[in-house]
Amino acid sequence: MNLEGVIAKRADAPYASRRTETWLKLKCKQRQEFVVCGYTDRSDGSRQIGSLLLGVYGPEGKLISVGSVGTGWSSEEAGDLKRKLVKLEVPKSPFAAGTAKPGRWSKRVAGSERWVQPKVVAEVDFAEWTPDGQIRHASYVALRTDKPARAIKRETAKTTDGPAPLRSAGNAGVGGIKVTHGERVIDPSTGLTKLDLVRYYESVADWILPHIKGRPCSLVRGPEGVGGPQFFQKHGEKIGIPGITELPASLWPGHDSLLEVGNAQALAGAAQMNVIELHTWNSTVKNINAPDRMVFDLDPGEGTGWPQVQEAAMLVRALLTQLGLEAWLKTSGGKGLHVVVPLTPRMDYDTVKDFSQAVVQHLAKAIPSRFVARSGPANRVGKLFVDYLRNGLGATTAVAFSARARPGLGVSMPVSWEELPKLKSGSHWSIPTAREHLSFQSTDPWASYWKKKQTLTAAMKMGSMPFRVERDSLI
Ligand code: ATP
Ligand code: MN
Repeated sequence: MNLEGVIAKRADAPYASRRTETWLKLKCKQRQEFVVCGYTDRSDGSRQIGSLLLGVYGPEGKLISVGSVGTGWSSEEAGDLKRKLVKLEVPKSPFAAGTAKPGRWSKRVAGSERWVQPKVVAEVDFAEWTPDGQIRHASYVALRTDKPARAIKRETAKTTDGPAPLRSAGNAGVGGIKVTHGERVIDPSTGLTKLDLVRYYESVADWILPHIKGRPCSLVRGPEGVGGPQFFQKHGEKIGIPGITELPASLWPGHDSLLEVGNAQALAGAAQMNVIELHTWNSTVKNINAPDRMVFDLDPGEGTGWPQVQEAAMLVRALLTQLGLEAWLKTSGGKGLHVVVPLTPRMDYDTVKDFSQAVVQHLAKAIPSRFVARSGPANRVGKLFVDYLRNGLGATTAVAFSARARPGLGVSMPVSWEELPKLKSGSHWSIPTAREHLSFQSTDPWASYWKKKQTLTAAMKMGSMPFRVERDSLI
């Protein structure tokens, strides 16, 4: 939109007509890498550079001057830059003839120009390009050693399809999707509307897509919102949601074809078609019979409260750690918590499910005051049943970042184990608060989830614990 910047206020802070920490001015900046072609010394004769003279490669492979940057570094960095560049000095400008006016910088920048071999690449942010191809208000960010200088070109910013301006709540466009009845309240307890839900899904698309892409996905549709009837939809008949793909029926023989929500458009389209929740399989289409995760579901129940769920999550984690398995945590967005163990997809569903059952049985045996191994109310008063039943073929779990079709529109939120004691419930975050939480979060607590490589093999061999399930064909 070519704005100079935007102003933001923390949603829960009062309006104050002065500078406060709850107002933020966010300048729109551009940023790219440039080839360092020369530098100037500082006028005070110190051993630091005064500015870097920058260039990019033009269409015919000519090195073109684009201006300079004289700020953004510490004095230590400025000294390092100088030491690095002195070694690369050459007598003549590396710019193609006629692209840099001689003496350009010696007039503007104190100190004389020194030229270097165009080998070093620096990342710089800047406000804009001038019509004659110079960068304005540049500030140094860092050197980049991962990019060859020859690859540095002038970059052009692409306009993304952001939310279209809201014309009327009744017919708003979100990410190319036409939202009908956007004003309809889908959760009377909060007054949240269908448009709020569509906007939520659009705003977390980058977060949720890694969790749903390439995986069979079931949909909870609530055409009348949270209070009305809900439909759990697994199959594709007359789905009519643009972007949602029907997977080949051969994937799960004997069943109708499954669905995949594979991109941001499908996600927004799903919300437009009254999908509130998304639930996924534990395996991907690529390897449909081998789960790439194992899920333990923890809920407060009859006679058990939230603190007991928190404690149980820690105990489940402790046992998994003993078994050499790293686990990640998310709120369910409803009542409880989900403990998720990523797996290299090698074993079949029965093996993983049996293993998860053995984990739950072991917990019940080791800490009978806290856990039961069987579901059912009679068995669980005051005790917790850690549900492993989502680990079977065809079973699903609410996906990370899914909204929940319950009052308050809670959201299943990935959290770090350190955050567990601070959580107030399984619906600690909801549609109106989740996005802000994500923007303030300094690191993604699940960043390493995707990189984790582990299998159940070693854990199944641990003799002292009953993790060897008596099913001969599988182990
Ligand atoms: P909470 O923390 O409140 O228990 P949750 O996500 O753990 O939330 P539920 O919402 O009770 O649990 O969902 C139970 C499980 O059953 C989910 O894994 C869901 O995928 C599955 N499920 C729900 N409805 C159906 C259905 N109609 N058919 C098949 N599976 C379903
Ligand atoms: Mn649950």
